[in-house]
Amino acid sequence: MALIVQKFGGTSVGSPERIASVAKKAATFREKGHSLVIVVSAMSGETNRLLALAHEINPNPEPRELDVLLATGEQVTIALLSIAIAKYHLPVRSYTGAQARIRTDSAYSKARIQNIDTKQIFHDLNLGRIVVVAGFQGIDDKGDITTLGRGGSDTTAVALAAALKADECQIYTDVDGVYTTDPRVVPEARRLNSLAYEEMLELASLGAKVLQIRSVEFASKYNVPLRVLSSFEENGEGTIITAETERMEEPLISGIAFNRDEAKLTILGVPNEPGVAYRILEPIAGANIEVDVIIQNVGQDGTTDFTFTVHRNDYQRALRILKDTSVQLKAREVIGDDNIAKVSLVGVGMRSHAGIASTMFRILAEEKVNIQMISTSEIKISVVIDEKYLEASIQALHTAFNLAKPTG
Ligand code: ASP
Ligand code: MG
Repeated sequence: MALIVQKFGGTSVGSPERIASVAKKAATFREKGHSLVIVVSAMSGETNRLLALAHEINPNPEPRELDVLLATGEQVTIALLSIAIAKYHLPVRSYTGAQARIRTDSAYSKARIQNIDTKQIFHDLNLGRIVVVAGFQGIDDKGDITTLGRGGSDTTAVALAAALKADECQIYTDVDGVYTTDPRVVPEARRLNSLAYEEMLELASLGAKVLQIRSVEFASKYNVPLRVLSSFEENGEGTIITAETERMEEPLISGIAFNRDEAKLTILGVPNEPGVAYRILEPIAGANIEVDVIIQNVGQDGTTDFTFTVHRNDYQRALRILKDTSVQLKAREVIGDDNIAKVSLVGVGMRSHAGIASTMFRILAEEKVNIQMISTSEIKISVVIDEKYLEASIQALHTAFNLAKPTG
């Protein structure tokens, strides 16, 4: 018999009907003899509604009080779900984060889980109870309620699965798994049967917003098998995310991630001497602006050009800072472009295969797409291109790397 942690997101518990269907699923699962801990989010839209209420009353709500407020969304759902499960005459217990003894630090609205005292939950499970826990929240040393950041219920579920040494952590959501790329861009995109943690981290951070990134880091650290699956389907297998060594299939490329949220800045004609890259990026970092891709050209006549990307929201601010720097460095010019996009091929298979980058560049060349910047890691190749070629590029790469065809 297995011990499974299941997490249901906002849309999966978004109405009384949806909650009833989660309860039915739980009952069926429990009747097979498995032990079950369920983590739930607030009903869809609820966290945003509460946030808006607070800001209507005070544009600068006290962080401590905001967490007290936001935590109520999940408290409603645990109670409603437990009430729904009880209709099946199954023993069930609901717990808020604090009651489940999920201890966090005191960083309101972005607290980190430090430890979980599992005694009570194990006690309940041993009595055959289904345990329902509020996601997204915990309690700090002082006894204050904390929340874990948007999407934090995923992290609650994984942390509980790790603490309970559960056999699997299942994340039920409104999609039936993780796809090779966004099906809205490539209709032939395919659900992946399996993924390595590292790949999921790359795909998540690059825009495939299926799981909170921190939950994947947590799963990887504690080796919790993580399965993403649809709460609207009966028998889907979803996508299982595990350590690389436990993978069944090993395709060269697992997926294509992309991101339209970046902008590019270039400072032209800066001195080609030690300390210049530092002098360009130091004030950017000082303004808390994160830099993603960086390139510096080969120097000519003692000068060089330096280009980097930032989040589009930080573009104007970064441009102003760079213009100041350019005066100090006596640079020739500062130019920028906020109509760029980044496309990344992701796959652990790249580690053992040469030539992926050149194939990628050939495909983009055939599409007449100019590559503006390139960055690589062991399991990822990213290119920065003009945003207007984004869809065509993703489609061409998806076809060329055969991602629509099932592997293994
Ligand atoms: N309800 C919280 C949010 O909307 C946490 C979650 O759903 O995971 O961000
Ligand atoms: Mg979510």
